[in-house]
Amino acid sequence: MGDVVLSLGMGVDSVGILTRFLLEPETRGFDLRDLIVMTAMTGDEFAETGEHMQRYMLPLMRTHRVRYVQLSRGGPRRGDGYVVLNDSAQPARMHMTGPWRLQDELLRNGTVPQFARNRRTCSEKSKATPLDQWKHDHLGDQPYQHILGFSAEEEKRIARDATYTSHNRQARFPLAHEWGWTRQDTLGYLHEVYGGEWPRSCCVYCPFAISDTEYLAERWRRDPDAAVLALVMERRSVTLNPRSTLFARGSAWQFARDHSLLQALACADEMLRDGTWAIYDVRRIYHAATDKTIGQPITSKKGSAWRSVTTLAEGTQSRMIRELHHLARAHRATPQVDEFNIHRLMIRCPTTPYPTTERFLSVGPAGIDDKRRKSFAGTWSKLVDQTRLAA
Ligand code: SF4
Repeated sequence: MGDVVLSLGMGVDSVGILTRFLLEPETRGFDLRDLIVMTAMTGDEFAETGEHMQRYMLPLMRTHRVRYVQLSRGGPRRGDGYVVLNDSAQPARMHMTGPWRLQDELLRNGTVPQFARNRRTCSEKSKATPLDQWKHDHLGDQPYQHILGFSAEEEKRIARDATYTSHNRQARFPLAHEWGWTRQDTLGYLHEVYGGEWPRSCCVYCPFAISDTEYLAERWRRDPDAAVLALVMERRSVTLNPRSTLFARGSAWQFARDHSLLQALACADEMLRDGTWAIYDVRRIYHAATDKTIGQPITSKKGSAWRSVTTLAEGTQSRMIRELHHLARAHRATPQVDEFNIHRLMIRCPTTPYPTTERFLSVGPAGIDDKRRKSFAGTWSKLVDQTRLAA
């Protein structure tokens, strides 16, 4: 057999597998010298995850001389590749942050983690891509067994994983297919071995963690800085899109209010109040959806959206609001204030049929990058001209 790669997400499932492989050798079926354990860091995990790894997993890996590769993205673009934070069979410490954190991307883009086409794009960029790039560079085409921590109730994820399978990768799911362990079984096992509840691994602002509201509220209560990051991230996101709250079913700010996370709310308010603000010129083109069977646009249905962001001015919040009112006079319109206290001046409202355009100026926290694709300006002018002619 060739190499065995275990993706260690640092959460309950993958930690359960590695622990059992090391403590009960008959469960693994390979020589430990063939094992490479890998973690890709988003840079934004709760502190307790790193602490548990440092305290329990690293000593176990050192005892068994397991090769542990800790990675992160090298930068914002795919071409920036990955950075090896540590690669050792005697890992002394956890390296939880690399040169480019997921929050760097989300804050600078003014967005929150997205779920698109059945996939978590943030996870693909921050975890799957650097891991794949490292394997490509170090394993090449040689066959390897890939151990994944999907539990018995995750057959859908296992089926989805089959769509990624490449010719040299043989996926193995010990929890689901060999031991029949549910998440609860693995939690119980880790409790027996380490004497406490193993924390769930995720970014502090992960919107998918809302499935267990009380658990998330308790984590944010214990770690207010984590909640502040989530609140600030959402405030930037709703500056550019009022529908883009952290959670699909509501906002992080409302969640924090509902759970009386007063310290986090006060810190986030203070950070925003004392920080620099900006006026953004936000334009969107909503394309028509495409009927894939005939390759024709469906003008009654919204397709993909392109966004352009331009920073017009920066200063204190009150100065930016005054400036927005000044600009409003030129546009003969009145700014509105939404539930997030974002002051917004609508200049073009989207209409049907598609494609259509939208434009507004909004006042929000500074630091969102100016960004648009190359063909945005040409397409925008064409659509705006068409609207004028039709009017
Ligand atoms: S933990 Fe959540 S936010 Fe972080 S990469 Fe995974 S899906 Fe995205």
